[in-house]
Amino acid sequence: MEKKIAVLAGDGIGPEVMKEALRILDKIAIKFGHKFQFKSALIGGAAYDKYGEHFPQETKDICKNCDAILFGSVGGPVDKLTESKWANCERNALLGIRKEFNFHANFRPARIYKSLSNICPLKKEIIEKGIDLLVVRELIGGIYFGLHEMKEIEGKRTAKDVMEYNEDQIRIIAHDGFQAAQKRRKKLTSIDKANVLDCSKLWRQIVDEVAKEYPEIEYCHMLVDNCAMQLIKDPSQFDVILTENTFGDILSDEAAVLPGSLGLMPSASLNKDGFGLFEPSGGSAQDIAGKGIANPIAQILSAAMMLKYGFGMIQESEDIENAVQKTLEDGFRTGDIYEEGMKKVGTSEMGDEIEKRI
Ligand code: NAD
Repeated sequence: MEKKIAVLAGDGIGPEVMKEALRILDKIAIKFGHKFQFKSALIGGAAYDKYGEHFPQETKDICKNCDAILFGSVGGPVDKLTESKWANCERNALLGIRKEFNFHANFRPARIYKSLSNICPLKKEIIEKGIDLLVVRELIGGIYFGLHEMKEIEGKRTAKDVMEYNEDQIRIIAHDGFQAAQKRRKKLTSIDKANVLDCSKLWRQIVDEVAKEYPEIEYCHMLVDNCAMQLIKDPSQFDVILTENTFGDILSDEAAVLPGSLGLMPSASLNKDGFGLFEPSGGSAQDIAGKGIANPIAQILSAAMMLKYGFGMIQESEDIENAVQKTLEDGFRTGDIYEEGMKKVGTSEMGDEIEKRI
C-alpha cells in the first residue's frame, strides 16, 4: 500500500519523539512492503516563527493532500504562555485543525502494561484484574464550541459558555463508540449528567436508540461524577467509555494517569470520512525538551493507531504494539517510567530497542 502522511512534529519534545516514530514506520514499510511518504509541515510555535500564525495555510494544504496526519505536540513553556508566539498556541493549532477537518471523534486508550504495574498509582488489588479501556469522546460540539461571552451586567463581570448538542452530533459519536466496542470486549458505558443537563437527557435518548442497532454490545449509562470515582475505584469494569466533549476531556486525562506516564498515551481523532489525526495525549513537555530523555512510546503508539484506524493495517499496528510491550518486558525504561533495577535509556535508545523488536 502507498500512503502519504503529513508529519506535524510541532514544538518541545515533538520533533524528538516524532523522529523515533518515523523510523518505526520505515521499518514497518520494509517488513510489510508498503510505501510511506512523509510530508513535513510546521504547526504551533514552530509555525508562528515562520508565518506569524499557529496553523498556517501551507500546513492545511499539505494535510489536505495526505492520507493521515501524524502530529507531535504544540505549545510553549508554561511560564511563557503570554508571549505572542505562545499565546493561544494550543487552542489555535489544535482546535483549528479539529475544526478544519471536522474531527468529531477522539479515541484515547488507557492500558496498564503488566511490566509497568508498579508505576500505576492505584493499589495492586485494584489493578490486578487488568485495566484496558478506551475513551471515545465527541470532539467538535458542546460547550467548547458554543457561544462564549464575558460582559458586564448590572455592574458585575459576568461570563457565559453555552453547551449545545443536536441529535445528529450525538448519533454519529454513539455509532463510533458502539463500533469501537464491537472490536474490543463488547462493553460500552455512556457517560452524562442526565440528572441535571438537557444536553445529557438528549444524549441518553439517542444512545438508547443507537444501542438497538448493536444488540451484541452490553451497555449502560453512568453519571459523570460517578464515572470519575469508578475510574479510580474499579477501572477494570470499563471497556469503551462514550462521552461528550468536556466530560471526555476531563475523564480521558484522569484515565491517562492510570498507566503511569503521559509518555505512554497515544490518541486518534477521526472525521466521518475516516481521515485522521494521530498524536500523543501529552503536550510539548518543555520541561524536558532538548534533553533526549522524552519517552517516544506515546508517539510510536500514535503511529500504530494511524495504521489501524487510519489505514486498516491491523497486523502492522499490532506488530508495533507487541514490540513496545516486549521492550518494556525486557526492562528498558525512559526516565518518566524508570524504576530501580531497570535499564534506563534516552529517547533514541528506546526507539532503537523498539525497532529491533519489529
Ligand atoms: P505536558 O503534557 O507537556 O507535560 C506534563 C508532564 O508530563 C511534564 O512533566 C512532562 O515532562 C511529562 N511528559 C509529557 N509527555 C512526556 C513524554 N513523552 N515523556 C516523558 N514525560 C512526558 O503538559 P504541560 O507541561 O502542562 O504543557 C506544556 C505545553 O504543552 C503547554 O504549552 C501546553 O499548552 C501544551 N499542551 C499541548 C498539547 C498538545 O499538543 N496536544 C496537550 C497538552 C498541553
